[in-house]
Amino acid sequence: MTRTTRIDTLIVDVPTIRPHVLAMATMRSQAVVLVRITGPDGVEGIGEGTTIGGLSYGDESPEGIKLAIDTYIAPILQTCDISRVGETMAKVGQHVVGNHIAKCAVETALLDAAGKRLGLPISELIGGGRRRDRLPVAWTLASGETARDIDEAAQMIEAKRHNIFKLKIGKRSVREDVAHVAAIKKALGDRGSVRVDVNQGWDEAQADLGMGLLADAGCDLVEQPIARDAFAAMTRLSARHAIPLMADEALHGPRTAFTIAANAGARVFAVKIAQSGGLFPAYEVAAIATASGIGLYGGTMLEAGIGTVASAHLFATFPGLAWGTELFGPLLLTEEILEQPLDYADFSVGVPTGSGLGVTLDEDKIAHFRRDRTAPTLHVVSAGV
Ligand SMILES: [Mg+2]
Repeated sequence: MTRTTRIDTLIVDVPTIRPHVLAMATMRSQAVVLVRITGPDGVEGIGEGTTIGGLSYGDESPEGIKLAIDTYIAPILQTCDISRVGETMAKVGQHVVGNHIAKCAVETALLDAAGKRLGLPISELIGGGRRRDRLPVAWTLASGETARDIDEAAQMIEAKRHNIFKLKIGKRSVREDVAHVAAIKKALGDRGSVRVDVNQGWDEAQADLGMGLLADAGCDLVEQPIARDAFAAMTRLSARHAIPLMADEALHGPRTAFTIAANAGARVFAVKIAQSGGLFPAYEVAAIATASGIGLYGGTMLEAGIGTVASAHLFATFPGLAWGTELFGPLLLTEEILEQPLDYADFSVGVPTGSGLGVTLDEDKIAHFRRDRTAPTLHVVSAGV
């Protein structure tokens, strides 16, 4: 039986390449929570738990994710055979309510180690295994300035990096926001797909107005226009508008996915490993969507390399990925924390083929950007305890 011997957690603050303007926050750096779990066999797994904008996006903060792992999840892991990932995460779930991002970081680390032990990439350990080696990747235009966003989109198309664009709106009036979107769509024409993410910024009447105007402007998708728990309103909006509504913040694992699907509250799901509570529950979210005729989109919490690769392994197993992914997190950061950067080319990203996650951390970068540069948090126990 494999006993946990060491669990390290740390927060790494990496600057963003430009201010990232969302309805609820403006990001200038990203706080990445990393967890390393090393068993007595010496096999190390790495996971990432990352959220957006401190506590402005969801219920978990970077500091809270670290605390949940250090104080509550680490002692549970010490009682488990961590080579049995599903059983271990079930035990964590019995003792820790919620805290999906912390659980996702831990599950990712356990899967990374399991893959290394088995000599298989994580994408071969989930569902029916890997179905694709590259994933389409959208880019988010979120400078807040129309002309700058158009220039940025044109450069991305020219460089063959992205031709799917998500616009963050919801801060200005509905008509101002739609004018911004319409100007970008008009400039890009058929060269790119334009979608919006309102991040819950509207009420139902605003959403009715906005979805109607956005459809006329050539926008392809409206992500989470209203509050995450406004399930009945999501159902009404989905029934009233031909432009698809995509659920994001409303999705918190298989149970909310089932509720939304059963009530026809969305036509597309943004599947996120962090919000779902890990890769296994995120796979279940995708299965519910597929069984319900709901389209799939691979979402991001703007994770750095580790979380992005973990997501990529999961999305590579999906039977369909009609709306692509937004796994551009590492590209928004000024520094790559992986030794070998991910392969972004031809409007897509490659899914690594090595065992586990198939990537290695750049230790010099981690040492440079870690918030606590001298005193890592360690949990050391003896084998057999
Ligand atoms: Mg979103």
